[in-house]
Amino acid sequence: ALLQGASRALIEAKKFAGNHYHLYTDELADKDATQPLLEGALRKAVANREFEVYYQPKLHLASGTIRGVEALVRWQHPQLGLVEPERFIYLAEENGLIGAIGEQVLEQACQQAREWLNDGIEIRVAVNLSAQQLKQGDGAAVIERTLKRTGLPHHLLELELTESILLEENSRISSTIHRIRELGVGISIDDFGTGYASLSYLRRFPVSALKIDRSFISGIPDSDSDCALARAIIAMALSLDLRVVAEGVELPQQAEFLRRFACDEIQGYLVSKPVCARELTEQLGQPVSF
Ligand code: C2E
Ligand code: CA
Ligand code: CA
Ligand code: CA
Repeated sequence: ALLQGASRALIEAKKFAGNHYHLYTDELADKDATQPLLEGALRKAVANREFEVYYQPKLHLASGTIRGVEALVRWQHPQLGLVEPERFIYLAEENGLIGAIGEQVLEQACQQAREWLNDGIEIRVAVNLSAQQLKQGDGAAVIERTLKRTGLPHHLLELELTESILLEENSRISSTIHRIRELGVGISIDDFGTGYASLSYLRRFPVSALKIDRSFISGIPDSDSDCALARAIIAMALSLDLRVVAEGVELPQQAEFLRRFACDEIQGYLVSKPVCARELTEQLGQPVSF
């Protein structure tokens, strides 16, 4: 019965796939009742290692090759099927399971990148981190251990952190980020431009890349202000010597615009949706076309 309850909640949740805000609005009435069920299922998922990592390629525009991928977690539930991260990450962040889930994702992603390297394909893998993972005192040690265990060269790992994490005045987060960077692991700012007006964190943290949020990219080419903002972010990244990646690229005109203004990489459905490791490996063997 527990599982049926959770299952119903997830099926309801899936109806709204694609817009996570519904979780907090349309389903608010249900949330209190279904949350404990979902939480129980999530605990089991951690124990049974039900998480699978999907990969979305980042296309390097100047060379037309794929040099990096983003690792995106999926919950492969035995009865419910594939559950999207926006259905459970918020809960895992609330109840502390995100640490354990994050470690499983990191391990799989590093392992996979190591396998690609063994096959002669050098691919940088980017893993999303939540604030909580950085607040744990041993955040950097977890990363160092995982790199050691999997044998992945440090420069092939990158961590994606949102702006809001860097704006928290938390000395643990700050020292963990600096230690991670000292390992030679990259730090990328996710959803860049959506968080806060202050850019002062770019001075305080050893950032290596910016990811322009999808909300700016979707306005290209029609919205003059989105075009101007995207250009300004690219110019800023170039002058700060940061790599710049555009997220959520869906149209050829957007790719063309981004190439013209020297954006380094594009990620989005135009190139590929997130896919399982096997499918990504197949893609890597073929020329990119759109
Ligand atoms: P994100 O880090 O901003 O990841 C990008 C999201 O945009 C992914 O959703 C991806 O599938 C989607 N996307 C990619 N290209 C396009 C496009 O062209 N158009 C549109 N409309 N969407 C596109 P996904 O995989 O559902 O992940 C959602 C969010 O869940 C991620 O947003 C990230 O914040 C979080 N997440 C995913 N995996 C992990 C993880 O392992 N750990 C943590 N802490 N969070 C994760
Ligand atoms: Ca991300
Ligand atoms: Ca993002
Ligand atoms: Ca996002």
